[in-house]
Parts: sequence; C-alpha cells; structure tokens
Amino acid sequence: MIRNYNELTRLEMEQVDRANTIVLIPLGATEQHGNQAPLGTDAMIAGAMPEYIKTELSKVDPDYPMLIFPVIPVGFSVEHLGFCGSISFKPDTYYHMLYDITQSLAHHGFVKIVYLICHGGNRSVVDMLARQVRADFGVLPFVLASGAFFHPDVQATISPGNTFDFHGGEMETSMVLAINPSSVKLELSETGFRGPTRDGKKAIRFSGEHALTWMGEEFVTEDGRPIGIGGDPRGATAEKGRIILETSARELVPAFIEIRDWT
Ligand SMILES: [Zn+2]
Repeated sequence: MIRNYNELTRLEMEQVDRANTIVLIPLGATEQHGNQAPLGTDAMIAGAMPEYIKTELSKVDPDYPMLIFPVIPVGFSVEHLGFCGSISFKPDTYYHMLYDITQSLAHHGFVKIVYLICHGGNRSVVDMLARQVRADFGVLPFVLASGAFFHPDVQATISPGNTFDFHGGEMETSMVLAINPSSVKLELSETGFRGPTRDGKKAIRFSGEHALTWMGEEFVTEDGRPIGIGGDPRGATAEKGRIILETSARELVPAFIEIRDWT
C-alpha cells in the first residue's frame, strides 16, 4: 500500500514493516522558470510525480510498500540566483538537511530510501549523500531522476523547431499546466536559449569533455539578453504535461520493482 508519510499516526507507523517499506523523498526546488512558469515548478512536479508513480505502480502491484515523504521544496539552485525569487540551499546545508532526515528514518528502522530528483541541480549533492548514508547507517539509498525527457513519447510533445528545450521550456511548462494551470502565464512566454551560438563560441555542454558548469544567465535570447530558460515554452499544453508526467512515472516502474525486490 502506498500512503503519505505524514498522514500516518504514531501507532500506524509502529505497525509499518519499516525494514521492507520504501520511503520516497521527492526533491523539488524553488527557482526561476522564466516569465511564464512559477518559481515552484520543480516543487509542484515533485508533489505530483509520486501520485503518477502511485497510479502506475498500482497497476502492477496494488500492495506496493511505500510511504511518500513530504516534498522538500527547496534544493541546490545556485545557478538561478541571478534571477529574482530563486532560493538555494548551500551544498553543505542541503547535504546535512537530507542527512538528518535519512538518519531519523534509519533510526526508526527504514532501510530503503528513494531520493526522487525533480531538479537536476540537486543530483550531485544527493549522489554524495547516498554514498555516505549507506556507509554510515547501512541503509539502501536509491537515486532516481523523475523526468523521462529523452523518451520518444516525451520528445514528441516538443513543438517543431523548438530546439534545446530544457529548463523552463515547453516540457516543464506543460507539466505545470497539467498540475497547477492557474500558476502559468503562457501569454508572457519568451523564447529562451536555443543552443550554442552558430560561431560555436559559447558551447554550453552538460557532460563530456570540456563541460562547463552552467549558470542561468548564460541562457540568453537570440539578441544576447539573459533569460535563464532553454527552448520555447509557447507550445506548452496541459495534455502534453500529462503525457510527460505519465510517461516519466511509467518509465520508473521497473526501477521501483527492482527496489522492492532488492535484498
Ligand atoms: Zn525545473
């Protein structure tokens, strides 16, 4: 059975098979996502994804043993502090906050802990944390990324000609339209960064050799104005968002089954 951690009473928690029940911790962020999408975009996605995951898991295992922890609404978002409203933990604050939560869970006998990354910037800290808590507490930490952004069904939601759809672009804005439509101001959308400039002088990469850690203000418009988003959100729709959220949840099912069976 999948339940919300905070809705259990102390007595109910005592009755949980904590050694075999997974705790899913959704890791959001509070950071700028352009003119059109809210600061809480990643936190909203972190709030919605467990529900989509629950729906998909119930199709294969109605008794899936999991507790959904409250969303952590702030993450490591230093790359967005150049834009108004963004909030970031320092890496060590974020690390220790999650460390303390994990230590408390381990103290109560939980072993399997899933950190659900709903903001890519959280990943590096969480990867380190996972290694350390495994060593310190003997827990089994699993780090999962929430969005299946490269799945063909998700890629198919991107409007033709919308290149470099990424942070605050069409996909993320679509997801918020599916979750919390009144918070999206689609009419204020601006086209964001469209990828490295043609002369190749500003080749922002995310991995591989010569990768440069990016900052939001390096995502610029065609005329060079910092905009902090990638791609063009104008084609976003709630239906596209639903496809992205459902596909992402479905793609995580095999991992969740493996985690359930991990001994
Ligand atoms: Zn985001």
